[in-house]
Amino acid sequence: MATSHSLSGFVHNSPEGVIVEVEGSDTALDAFLTDVIMYLPPLADIADYSYSEVDARGDREFRIIASNTDGARSVHITPDTATCDECLRELFDPNNRRYRYPFINCTNCGPRLTIINGIPYDRVNTSLDCFPLCPECRGEYENPLDRRFHAEPNACPRCGPHLRLVDGAGTTIPSNDPALTAVDMLQHGNILAIKGLGGFHLAVDAANDTAVANLRFRKFREEKPLAIMVRDLHDAEQIAEINDAEKELLTSSQRPIVLLRAKKATFLSSSIAPGMNTLGIMLPYTPLHHLLMEKHFRALVMTSANQTDEPICIGNREALSRLDGIADFFLIHDRDILVRCDDSIAMTINNSQSMIRRARGFAPKPIALNEPYPSVMALGPQLKATVCIVKNNYAFLSPHIGDMATPEARDFHDETIGIMKNIAECAPTVIACDLHPDYYTTRIAHTMKEVDVLPIQHHHAHIVSCMAEHRLSGEVIGLAMDGTGYGTDGRIWGGEFLITDLVSSRRVGSLASILLPGSEKAIMEPWRIAASLLKKAYDDTWIDMASRLKLGSSEKEYAIIDNVINHRFNSPETSSLGRLFDGVAALLGLRHKVSFEGQAAMELEALVTTVSSDILPFDINHDENMMILNLFPAIRTIVEKKLAGRPREELAAAFHITLAIALSTMAQHMRDRTGLNRIALSGGCFQNRILAEGCIKKLTQAGFDVYTHRLIPANDGGIALGQAVSAAARIKYGKTEPELHNS
Ligand code: ZN
Ligand code: ZN
Ligand code: FE
Repeated sequence: MATSHSLSGFVHNSPEGVIVEVEGSDTALDAFLTDVIMYLPPLADIADYSYSEVDARGDREFRIIASNTDGARSVHITPDTATCDECLRELFDPNNRRYRYPFINCTNCGPRLTIINGIPYDRVNTSLDCFPLCPECRGEYENPLDRRFHAEPNACPRCGPHLRLVDGAGTTIPSNDPALTAVDMLQHGNILAIKGLGGFHLAVDAANDTAVANLRFRKFREEKPLAIMVRDLHDAEQIAEINDAEKELLTSSQRPIVLLRAKKATFLSSSIAPGMNTLGIMLPYTPLHHLLMEKHFRALVMTSANQTDEPICIGNREALSRLDGIADFFLIHDRDILVRCDDSIAMTINNSQSMIRRARGFAPKPIALNEPYPSVMALGPQLKATVCIVKNNYAFLSPHIGDMATPEARDFHDETIGIMKNIAECAPTVIACDLHPDYYTTRIAHTMKEVDVLPIQHHHAHIVSCMAEHRLSGEVIGLAMDGTGYGTDGRIWGGEFLITDLVSSRRVGSLASILLPGSEKAIMEPWRIAASLLKKAYDDTWIDMASRLKLGSSEKEYAIIDNVINHRFNSPETSSLGRLFDGVAALLGLRHKVSFEGQAAMELEALVTTVSSDILPFDINHDENMMILNLFPAIRTIVEKKLAGRPREELAAAFHITLAIALSTMAQHMRDRTGLNRIALSGGCFQNRILAEGCIKKLTQAGFDVYTHRLIPANDGGIALGQAVSAAARIKYGKTEPELHNS
């Protein structure tokens, strides 16, 4: 660009970022400054810039000066990026030397995070280190005008990695074009394990009912929706309704799985996403995907290759052993994946991006904070865990790790701590964790040596995570609507109204509590929650109501639940909104039991197709310093209307709109008390599009400045960010006393 503006001077990387010195006419300098900011290369991002005048040096040409690698670096590792259009053209050009080469990439695309094992990001610190560049590739790599200048993963069929197809025993299946042979196998209904960017996928033809059923059976995945890959936007539109914001997300260089409204009666197997009105769809993002999808399939199931609750497989041998008995064949290669990174999942809420799972394509791009902070590492919660390091003005949030239920997931968490320290080039001595004493992540925080541990309350962390991504400081109204989290009073919270700043949080309201008969068991058996709702709403006559609603399967079941609740046997109290959703879904006869957490609530949302104006009654009780939102009047109305034969679609819609109005009413009471007008929405319930959009609308109408998540998930995947930023703010402002009182 400097050359095209006839400027001389130089550019180089320094510890503080890029330094450019240019010399020329005033007009050329002005034009250059505008253009350099306007026309960024696809992966570039200017966090901040400044300029000043210096004496002219009389340079004649513009030069790129080699970087000095001493000292601290502020150049960040970038996320993996989908194959760019130029590389795609070469991939399918029979005259190109990389024709059908599955590892084609350039400075604008290809693997990044997933191939690094050290800093700085140079070829020697990547898994390409064992592939010496051939003269042609080296020429591209060293030529500043080539689009592969310093493309660290640069490779070609002569010098780079290769594909191989093997059977379950690891024996190579001879083939001139393993990708084409794999296509043939998929067309014959086989299950293939395919090595991707951040891990293996299990793939089957999405139109083949038997193949999909086989995959579900072998993976022990009864009903949880399966993600699919289609060739392009046009094909995606054959199976889903896609608005402009969703199109942008689907075709972005991050290529997340996007949750889209499914069209009815398509060619897809009916067991892709049973009971859901959405489909998780992604477009090809590696050259190999393009080779597989090219005119062969209308859709492939591409689900993470793992057993339930275990991390995604990355190694060839690991895949062969862990996927033994699941995959029929393995399409592998010799470019090692060094960092596990699942597919990201996103949707749009109010035409704006909303992350469900933040991983490939997004991590480890740091989140810019409102001001510099001391270094802190946060270990995340128990479910949907991530690790986050705050350093100076940035928060480095790891890719999605998952639920800490299995030893494999715990190893992955440990592995991620090392990777994030490496990426942030920082080993903090302050560790933030959840307040829950029994979370795995809390326990390991306390076993770490020579560190200070700062526990942060779960819902406070949720709200701070939302504040952090909007660079907010000062007090805000926080609505944390969630599954469950440990409260400062030792109870299970989950529908909380908070007055929060980065350092501390006051709970000024909550949902009326409900009992969970059988505790954890109630999560998988929502009818238990429905029974508990009925008992609270109808007292002695609840069993009669339950049998009229056909809630349980026998009188005996009701008697057991009645007894369990009367004696409060293993029936904790919770203010969780997520559990209330489960209970209402069961009341409407949606689900007696579920096969994954939140399934009933998702199906309740799926019933809502029209905007309701049917507002159900609710109460707000002012109890001491707390406001309690009591939705039992609404629940009684739902039960009575259901028994009167009203369709459940209508009742589901009424429940959603009532919630949005109730939350907005609570927020207005909070504003009256505090004068605060900024409101942050966080917690897993805001992944419910109907609820989130309803709340945003009602709150905006009431004049609030509403902040919702965009870059990080509203669910527990964002907790580590909130923990890290809150802990860092506490240290910065000298307020490190524990958060253990309920004010
Ligand atoms: Zn490219
Ligand atoms: Zn080469
Ligand atoms: Fe949560």
